[in-house]
Amino acid sequence: MPQSIHIIGGGLAGCEAAWQIARRGLPCVLHEMRPVRPTAAHQTDRLAELVCSNSLKSESEFTAPWLLKEELRRLGGLLLRCAQTARVPGGHALTVDRDLFAAEVTAAIAGEPLIELRRGEVTAIPEDAVTIIASGPLTSGPLAQEIARITGADRLFFYDSISPIVDAETVDTNIAFWASRYGKSTDGTDDYLNCPFDRDQYEHFVDALLQAQAVTAHIPEDDTRYFEACLPIEELARRGRDTLRFGPMKPMGLTDPRTGRRPWAVVQLRQENLRAQSFNLVGFQNHMKFGDQARVLRLIPGLEKAEFLRFGQIHRNTYINAPALLTPTLQLRSRPEVFFAGQISGVEGYVEAIATGFMAGVHAAAWAAGKNPRGFARETALGSLCHYVSGADRFHYQPANITFDLLPPLDEPTRLRLKKDKHARHAEVCRRALLALEEFACV
Ligand SMILES: Cc1cc2nc3c(=O)[nH]c(=O)nc-3n(C[C@H](O)[C@H](O)[C@H](O)COP(=O)(O)OP(=O)(O)OC[C@H]3O[C@@H](n4cnc5c(N)ncnc54)[C@H](O)[C@@H]3O)c2cc1C
Repeated sequence: MPQSIHIIGGGLAGCEAAWQIARRGLPCVLHEMRPVRPTAAHQTDRLAELVCSNSLKSESEFTAPWLLKEELRRLGGLLLRCAQTARVPGGHALTVDRDLFAAEVTAAIAGEPLIELRRGEVTAIPEDAVTIIASGPLTSGPLAQEIARITGADRLFFYDSISPIVDAETVDTNIAFWASRYGKSTDGTDDYLNCPFDRDQYEHFVDALLQAQAVTAHIPEDDTRYFEACLPIEELARRGRDTLRFGPMKPMGLTDPRTGRRPWAVVQLRQENLRAQSFNLVGFQNHMKFGDQARVLRLIPGLEKAEFLRFGQIHRNTYINAPALLTPTLQLRSRPEVFFAGQISGVEGYVEAIATGFMAGVHAAAWAAGKNPRGFARETALGSLCHYVSGADRFHYQPANITFDLLPPLDEPTRLRLKKDKHARHAEVCRRALLALEEFACV
C-alpha cells in the first residue's frame, strides 16, 4: 500500500480533497479537530459544516458562480453531488439544508475505505508525507504558528478588510475621470479613475453612510476591534464629518476636467492587474449590509448605475500570502509536497473552498504517484482561480471569489462582436471554459 496523503481539516476543502484522492485509488488520512477542539463558528462535529449562510450562490446559467459549480459537477465533485441531494428551494441560488448536506458528506467520507478519518488537532505538519493544509479561516492557534513557520510569515491571523469591486462597464466615465494625484503615475499612464464629489454630494453621502446598517458579526471576535490602518469607512465617518475627506476620499492633487477645479472629495477606482474589466474602490473597506452598501455606494458620482462584483467585508480570517508562496498547482514553492486548499489558500467563499480542495486533491494524488501535477486550463474558472491565487499582486493580496474578471478576456473580434450584449459575452466565456475543461479532462 502506498504511503497515505495527510489532509488537515475536514471542512469543505478537506473533504473534497480526500474524496478526489480516494477516487484516484490512493489512501489518505483526513484530520479533523472537532469535537475534540471546537472553533468559534462551527456548531457540530460533522464534516463540511456550513458555518453561516446555506447558499452556494447562483445557479443561473452563464454566471461565474454557476460556471465554477458546473465545472466541479462535470469533473465528479463529491460536495456538489451532496448539495444536490440536500437542495432546498432558494430561487436562483443553490441553497441546501445544512444539516443534511453535512450528514451526506460525513456519510460519504465514512463509507470510503481509502479515507481514514482521525479526530484530533494537528499542531505540526508532517515532515515526510504529502500533505494538504485545509484548516480554514478558523485554523487553530498552534497550527497557524506552524504554518507561519514553514511559510516564513510573521503571523497568519488577519482581519480581512475587503474593498468593494465594481464592474468597469457600469462606471459613468462622463463623470469619473482618469488621473493620478499630481500627475504622478506608476507607469506613465493615469492610474486611477476618480469619482468627484461637490460639497452637497459629499454631505449627503456621509449622512447615508452614518445611517447604514452594519452586518451582524459571525463570531464574537468580529464585533470587537478594527485595526487603525484599515478602518471601515463608516467608522471614519463616525469620527468626524470631514475625516473621510482627509483620508481615503482626499481630493489633493486632482483636478476635475469638467469644472477645472479640485473636487470637494474623491473616490479613487483602481484596476488590479489580474482583474480585467473591473475596479477596486480604494480604501473603501466597510462593514455595511450588502443591500445598504449597494444603495450608499451608488450615491458616489459616476457609480449611480454601478454593478458590484464584490461587496466590502471585514471579518476574521486566516490565509497565507498565496501569490508569494504557491504555484498554480497549489503547492508550496519551498516544499512542493505541501499543498494548500480552501480559505487558507487565499480564496473566499464556500464553492471556492470546495474548488481548491478538488484541485489540491487531484494534484496531491499526482504528486504522490510520482507525476508532475498539471494545472487546470487557464480558460476554466478552476484554472483562473489558481492563476489569481498564485499570480496576483503579493504586496496587496486580497482573497478572491470567482468573478468573470478573473477569467481571461475574450479575443478582440468576439468582444467587439458582442460588445452590446453582456449576457452573450458571459455565455461565450462559459462556453469557452467548458470546452477547455473537456479538452483538459481528455488529455
Ligand atoms: C464565521 C464565518 C462565516 C462565513 N460565512 C460564509 C458564508 O456565509 N458564505 C460563504 O461562501 N463563505 C463564508 N465563509 C468563508 C468560507 O467560505 C468558509 O469559512 C468555508 O467553510 C471555508 O472552507 P474551508 O474548507 O477552507 O474551511 P472549513 O470549512 O472551516 O474547514 C476547516 C476545518 O479544519 C478544522 N481545523 C482547523 N484547525 C485544525 C487543526 N489544527 N487540526 C485539525 N483540524 C483543524 C476545522 O475544525 C474545520 O472543520 C465564512 C467564514 C467564517 C469564518
